[in-house]
Amino acid sequence: MTERPLARADLRAIPAYRAGHAAPAGAYKVSSNENPFPPLPGVLAAISDAAASANRYPDFGCARLIAAVAAHVGVEPDQIAPGTGSVAVLGQLMNAFATVGDEVILPWRSFEAYPILVQLSGATQVRVPLRDDSSHDLKAMAAAVNEQTRVVMVCTPNNPTGNVVARSDLMAFLDEVPSNVIVAIDEAYAEFTTAPSALDLVDERNNVVVLRTFSKAFGLAGLRVGYAVGPAFIVTELRKAQLPFGVTRLAEQAAIAALASKGEMQRRVDCINAERARVIEELKSAPINVPESEANFVWLPLAERTAEFAAACASAGAVVRSFDGEGVRATIGEPEAADRWLAVLRNFLGV
Ligand SMILES: *Cc1c(COP(=O)(O)O)cnc(C)c1O
Repeated sequence: MTERPLARADLRAIPAYRAGHAAPAGAYKVSSNENPFPPLPGVLAAISDAAASANRYPDFGCARLIAAVAAHVGVEPDQIAPGTGSVAVLGQLMNAFATVGDEVILPWRSFEAYPILVQLSGATQVRVPLRDDSSHDLKAMAAAVNEQTRVVMVCTPNNPTGNVVARSDLMAFLDEVPSNVIVAIDEAYAEFTTAPSALDLVDERNNVVVLRTFSKAFGLAGLRVGYAVGPAFIVTELRKAQLPFGVTRLAEQAAIAALASKGEMQRRVDCINAERARVIEELKSAPINVPESEANFVWLPLAERTAEFAAACASAGAVVRSFDGEGVRATIGEPEAADRWLAVLRNFLGV
């Protein structure tokens, strides 16, 4: 046997990515929390303008995007670190602040990308289970902080359960976490909730970083743009860890155009939220404990019947996201998609 190159042992422990089931023709894909609306007004024109300069590198510093985002969230440009989706920016944060021997605390179940990003950094993940109502157990998370802890993740609204972290709970938590530990608050679904954002805390604390994305409410999942808002001294380190020229000119111009269509974005979000209210109302009569979601998805804790339900939904033309043995996450999108999986659910639960 000839020897072959071996990747880092911790990397080999990460399961290879399995592509999600593509929705067959005629089926709705409600498995990735995408926006069902086409790109916002002005976005396609911006992309096409930017495409004319495809022979040139984009702006390394993303100055125009940073200026537009800073104005949007109301902070200084040196408090914004952009990247190729907020997942990438979170990866930059892990790589910049955690390494072998360090610990990162995760609420669990939460976003599937977190454990992978922690493992890639070399650090050790410490999972703290959600409470029975699927909210973060912030007391247990604060208690899990030790000398090795570098980052604690907070996901609000939480993917895949939809719960938000209450402001008072967050404040009490921040008072307990030492100021040399970063509290990374993932607000990928901020536009879908009326709960207050943690953005104002960035100026008050030196360890709070908020992550935002253009992939969900702004409908640009395919172009990969997200950003972190944090203290300038943290943002400096995040920018060092970025992929050079990762955010393309197309992505940058599209995101700027999307920000200019904020009113229309909000109108579409209102539409999705109205559909979410309808779906949650329909679910009230079902014997299943669905958390009060404040994002563009709902969580169906079907436990051991999860995989069977997900397969039945796919056959009925609605591809949902299955977390086998735990539950199903269904994106709020086209009403027809929800009607399809709701019919399967009624059948399943015998109501
Ligand atoms: C979708 C999502 C993101 C954003 O991902 P992008 O890389 O910006 O597309 C981040 N966090 C959570 C919890 C998400 O669900």
